[in-house]
Amino acid sequence: MTCPHCGGLLKKDTINNVTPRAGQFIVIYGVPCCKCVDCGTVLYRGHVMQKLEKMVDDTPKAAGKVVMLGYPDSDMEVYNGH
Ligand SMILES: [Zn+2]
Repeated sequence: MTCPHCGGLLKKDTINNVTPRAGQFIVIYGVPCCKCVDCGTVLYRGHVMQKLEKMVDDTPKAAGKVVMLGYPDSDMEVYNGH
C-alpha cells in the first residue's frame, strides 16, 4: 500500500487523534494508523475509523472541554493480527 498523495511508503504507526466537537476536544491516544514516511499523511483502516466515530459518539457532551481516551487494546490486537 502506498500514499495516495505522493506515492510514498506507508508504515504502521500509532498517533493521538483529536476530534473537535461543539467546543469540546476528544483526544484518543494510541490509534493504529498507516503513516506516509515522506509527506506524513495518516490513513486509518475502515474499522479503526468506525471505532473512532463510535468513541466520539459515546462521549457525553457534559464530559468536559477536553476528554482523554485510550484506544482499546482489544482492537489493537485485531489490527496487529492482519
Ligand atoms: Zn505521502
